[in-house]
Amino acid sequence: MPKHDDTASIFSLPSVCAICGRWPTAAVCAPCWAFACPDLPRCPSCASRAWVSGHRCIDCWPEDSALDATWAAVDYAYPWSGLMARFKFRGEAAWATVFAQAMLRPEGAAHRLADIDWLVPMPMSEQRLAQRGYHPAWLLTQALLQASPRAHRPPAVANGLVRLGHSEPQHELPRAQRLTNPGLACVGHPLHAHRWLGAHIMLIDDVCTTGASLQAAARALRQAGAARVSAWVLARTPPQAHTPL
Ligand SMILES: [Zn+2]
Ligand SMILES: [Zn+2]
Repeated sequence: MPKHDDTASIFSLPSVCAICGRWPTAAVCAPCWAFACPDLPRCPSCASRAWVSGHRCIDCWPEDSALDATWAAVDYAYPWSGLMARFKFRGEAAWATVFAQAMLRPEGAAHRLADIDWLVPMPMSEQRLAQRGYHPAWLLTQALLQASPRAHRPPAVANGLVRLGHSEPQHELPRAQRLTNPGLACVGHPLHAHRWLGAHIMLIDDVCTTGASLQAAARALRQAGAARVSAWVLARTPPQAHTPL
């Protein structure tokens, strides 16, 4: 029986590579994958670039983290920053498929889902959802599941977390305000409270800027009874740059 490729999509049709312009190829051509998605060592706590794999970076000492682990596939920089802008602000939702491929590119990455009980996308406020018309982190969660081996597909809950209040977008605020932005506050959705007790939850998002949003979400899930909380994002803003979306 032929193996069905769940990752096949409109992106398997020939088109122009979004990075180098080569034609005809997939949305990102093979040489550009190698250039744009290098497998580099990252801090296991905050996912920033590190010199040595598996060692926490200096920014993570001695701070306690509400997250058991954080993974990022790439730095938030060219070409991903531009592709992410198309994904989030221009309605090009199908980029979720390519982003999921990037997240699953490192060998063994799919095994990160093996002991996860629930996948939960980072929440967005109702006002932002109404403005944008779709929830990018949820689209990324779905694409990640579709591209993962069937044996490693935990259930996912779109509204597992609820954003409290509404604030200016993070990328429009200075760094100091981002860290205390009231829009970061969120709680576990009461409808799903029974699911979090003793569970290992994986938060999914497209970009991690300072880590404050992920920390707030992880604290909310722990307060709701989760035993472990990890996070997996496509891109991590390099700590020195902090030039987010
Ligand atoms: Zn290319
Ligand atoms: Zn770190």
